[in-house]
Amino acid sequence: MVKTLLDNFCVKSGVLCARCEEKLRKGQITDLDLKIVRILFELEKQFPMLQDVSFERAVESGDVLAILVSKQDVGKMLSSGGKIVRAIVKETRKRVKILGYGGDSRQLIEDLFSPISILTINTIWLPDDTRETKVILDGRRPKHVPVDFEIVKRLAKEISGMTLRVEFEER
Ligand SMILES: [Zn+2]
Repeated sequence: MVKTLLDNFCVKSGVLCARCEEKLRKGQITDLDLKIVRILFELEKQFPMLQDVSFERAVESGDVLAILVSKQDVGKMLSSGGKIVRAIVKETRKRVKILGYGGDSRQLIEDLFSPISILTINTIWLPDDTRETKVILDGRRPKHVPVDFEIVKRLAKEISGMTLRVEFEER
């Protein structure tokens, strides 16, 4: 079954033992994580490839739900012609993004901005010694952007602590 910090038995039964409760209380696992793990567990019956997916965490911002799984498991989550993702969308009524955990930050940024293509990513050091990541997108800023940049910024911050700055540049 989907690998998580929780005992399989507790996820299956829906009743958490003291040890799992403790993880929830300490914030190692959030209520949102638990909700997503339960959805994935239900979906395993229909999509057996989910059985060996390692779930890392789930993060929500606005109408976007980012599900982080092990880098090598992203393909499994996206398999079955997108049926798994569609099933999660149906359950959560969110726009679902599947992200690889433990990859490099460029990959994470590309996945967060997809389907918009990225021209360059630069690190900027500010006078106060903090760092921002400047993401330059290809072309002119369109009237309708398919991605909400404020949501992407919040997700990047929460997932990897990055502060993003977004700019468009024409080649
Ligand atoms: Zn337990």
